[in-house]
Amino acid sequence: MITSSSKVVVLGHASVGKSSLVLRFCKGQFFEYQEPTVGAAFLTKSIPFGNEEAKMEIWDTAGQERYHSLARMYYRGAYAAVIVYDITNKESFIKAKEWAKELHQQIPEEINIVLVGNKSDLESLRTVSFDEASDYAKSSGYIFLETSAKTGENVDDVFFSLAEKLPKTPVNP
Ligand code: GDP
Repeated sequence: MITSSSKVVVLGHASVGKSSLVLRFCKGQFFEYQEPTVGAAFLTKSIPFGNEEAKMEIWDTAGQERYHSLARMYYRGAYAAVIVYDITNKESFIKAKEWAKELHQQIPEEINIVLVGNKSDLESLRTVSFDEASDYAKSSGYIFLETSAKTGENVDDVFFSLAEKLPKTPVNP
């Protein structure tokens, strides 16, 4: 798919760690008591590609998912989506599938999707198996990763897996 968009939307149930993943990737920070909103509608991150760079615009729901629907403009123009659930919360996995359906309704064109099982540091509390989520992702054509916004595990991979498709511009020497 040819696109000039650099917009990535992050979706998922409340408290699965959406804001934490975005903050970890864009700013390298993690907070145990993350506020429900990060304030801004989106954060940008520059990703280097040799002599070029790509800018990714990552949209956080800013708590709007609590109202079970997001404004249409949230999705508008996105070339990719990150759908997040919490590996310790089965309901959040069921909700992730619903968010995927909603996404396909809102964006009927082809879109790149990464399914993310977050909070992998809480292995002893796991209720969603790796295989169950991996099988679902595979059958849906999504990339699948388990992450921890707390330790940083696999967080960069989520966004880098989408970065290849970004428009790139030369970096001024
Ligand atoms: P959001 O509502 O989906 O944006 O979720 P938040 O980013 O606000 O995170 C909800 C809570 O989960 C906060 O207390 C975070 O500190 C915590 N949290 C987020 N990611 C992780 C993680 O990978 N591991 C652990 N242990 N806690 C996390």
